[in-house]
Amino acid sequence: MPVMTPAQYEESLRQMRFDVYLMGEKVENPVDHPIIRPSMNSVKMTYALAHNPEHADLMTAKSHLTGKTINRFCHLHQSADDLVKKVKMQRLLGQKTAACFQRCVGMDAINAVDSVTFEMDAKLGTNYHERFTNFLLQMQEEDWTVDGAMTDPKGNRGLAPSKQADPDLYVRVVEKRADGIVVSGAKAHQTGALNSHWILVMPTIALDKADAAYAVSFVLPADAEGILYIYGRQSCDTRKLEGGDIDVGNRNFGGHEALMVFDHVFVPWDQVFMCGETEFSGALVERFAAYHRQSYGGCKVGVGDVLIGASALAAEYNGAAKASAVKDKLIEMVHLNETLYACGIACSCEGCPTASGNYLVDLLLANVCKQNVTRFPYEIARLAEDIAGGLMVTMPSEQDLRHPEIGKIVEKYFCGVADVPTEFRLRVLRLIENLTLGTAAVGYRTESMHGAGSPQAQRIMISRQSDLEAKKDLARAIAGIPGKNSD
Ligand code: SF4
Ligand code: FE
Repeated sequence: MPVMTPAQYEESLRQMRFDVYLMGEKVENPVDHPIIRPSMNSVKMTYALAHNPEHADLMTAKSHLTGKTINRFCHLHQSADDLVKKVKMQRLLGQKTAACFQRCVGMDAINAVDSVTFEMDAKLGTNYHERFTNFLLQMQEEDWTVDGAMTDPKGNRGLAPSKQADPDLYVRVVEKRADGIVVSGAKAHQTGALNSHWILVMPTIALDKADAAYAVSFVLPADAEGILYIYGRQSCDTRKLEGGDIDVGNRNFGGHEALMVFDHVFVPWDQVFMCGETEFSGALVERFAAYHRQSYGGCKVGVGDVLIGASALAAEYNGAAKASAVKDKLIEMVHLNETLYACGIACSCEGCPTASGNYLVDLLLANVCKQNVTRFPYEIARLAEDIAGGLMVTMPSEQDLRHPEIGKIVEKYFCGVADVPTEFRLRVLRLIENLTLGTAAVGYRTESMHGAGSPQAQRIMISRQSDLEAKKDLARAIAGIPGKNSD
């Protein structure tokens, strides 16, 4: 069995001392803060399901380092089958939380850092891979949640890191000492940072020699001295302060992002995995992005399953389930959702071993996967709103439903089919609202667009991987045109 139980995970977070601000106030106890807690519950589910024998095959793996059973989120993929199981695990967790469960960024980061540090050492004679493996051993032993921290604030997108008006707009090394480095800067929209034990920082773009100070990768405890967090707002987030459980849409689960600021933070050398090796920054970004683009072919599909189910229920409660137009919309939603899954599975099946031995997804297919994710959830959400009807955005509050006098009016006029309580109808519509417009829309819609790289980043990768010359040769051969490689 993996090390940490859900209760132990929650307790371990209580021991952390985060310096975090939310809506202008310092948060002393993030675990119990009503806005933050649902996101913790989502990560906690990654521990809970790992202890459920029914899901052991997906949720756990055998460590290639120790042979022990570990949580799959701490695992380096040892086969294409491991990559497939990762996607299936993410779909399962999406189904159980209908939210971003955050822990994948660390899993994707360790898999990228493993192969890149191995290749760095082989070429440059450094010893980053050994340092990284020592960290990984501890991570697996302790069952840590790790935040994979890649995206810098980036300032003026037209300028390289060292040319920015403010040099802190990308994380950089400000001092090298005998015992370690000192870093400053920030990482933006950090998924699950406050539910993490450690952060694994990586550069955010391929870098030139002039930007050597920005080619830095390291791990730190997430609550290390000098790290400040500013919690990101989500649409409808203050509904969680109202105390009810209908209007929030998802009573138990959520996700979060935060700005993570480093103000002259010290990192000992044994926690540094890249320091100035600009020629490897591009590979690290590319591999992390590829793994995370694969991830979306699992997690967003699981959330999509919940949204499709909610739409089917809404249709039933509206008395419209038998209408052929509604049935057809649900079929389209399933088709789009399963297409995303097919991409996630395909890029996993076509995965290959790296020089260090762990498996990397097929880059072209992973980028096609994410490119589809930038589109299909929007269409699925549009169809869900179509089926749900306008009541989703005009219905009264839970307080009105519970009110001793007007509650009866709400019951009477918002009833759909007579044998379904009005409350059920309101609940399912609030869930659809949550996923399409509310707190979970952050993950299901906008993160589908920009998370793991915005659409253009995938198009660049698709272009690089597309091998048009080989395709031209195929066409020449069929058409009878003599050419470079045709026989
Ligand atoms: Fe995991 Fe998906 Fe959240 Fe990324 S967006 S951390 S893949 S659940
Ligand atoms: Fe993400």
